[in-house]
Amino acid sequence: MSFILGITGGIGSGKSAATQWFESQGITVIDADIVAREIVEPGQPSLQAIQQSFGDWVLLEDGNLNRRALREYIFQFPEARQTLEKITHPAIRQSIIQQLQQAKSPYVILVSPLLFETNQHELVHHTLLIDADEQIQLQRASQRDGQNEEQIRKIIAAQMSRTQKQQLANDTVLNDGLLEHLHLQLKPLHLKYLQRAEQVF
Ligand code: ADP
Repeated sequence: MSFILGITGGIGSGKSAATQWFESQGITVIDADIVAREIVEPGQPSLQAIQQSFGDWVLLEDGNLNRRALREYIFQFPEARQTLEKITHPAIRQSIIQQLQQAKSPYVILVSPLLFETNQHELVHHTLLIDADEQIQLQRASQRDGQNEEQIRKIIAAQMSRTQKQQLANDTVLNDGLLEHLHLQLKPLHLKYLQRAEQVF
């Protein structure tokens, strides 16, 4: 299997900005957030399993998952999260593995906001943290999503701490300046990963 790089970082740290640059260099990127949505699309076994476990109310009239209702239910009954994750996590993992195997670029990237939290780092050979301080995260994410800072703060609080991620990651890039500065830091890493990809696994 080719070299797999895991990219993580808190909300608004610049994961997408970083992966867009890697994609511009011809590297295939698998996004765990996208996979998580794909596996609950209508017709997917995970959506049927969720419906069976929770009831028909989890579906909208058009057959799509009623995310808001499910989110509110989990907020009310926190133990339901485990039931849900028992269905979704193995399916997400399976789909990620499949997509990583199908990738054709010199190396492949798995980007996930919860790479360490959900043990997805087990699926990669090397990890890169896109790092930014909380004030910058708040500013960027609230501008991007139009969410208020309080909501972003809650998301940051639910994610693993910045220091912990810094300790776990193999490489760290501080994204606290211009986008050009981010790209300048990514370039030597990309060259290093290309070299790693040439080694036999
Ligand atoms: P993440 O994917 O980690 O949540 P994004 O890459 O989407 O974060 O970045 C959040 C927002 O901040 C986006 O609108 C992005 O364009 C912007 N952004 C990211 N890095 C920079 C930077 N170095 N300078 C200016 N804007 C940035």
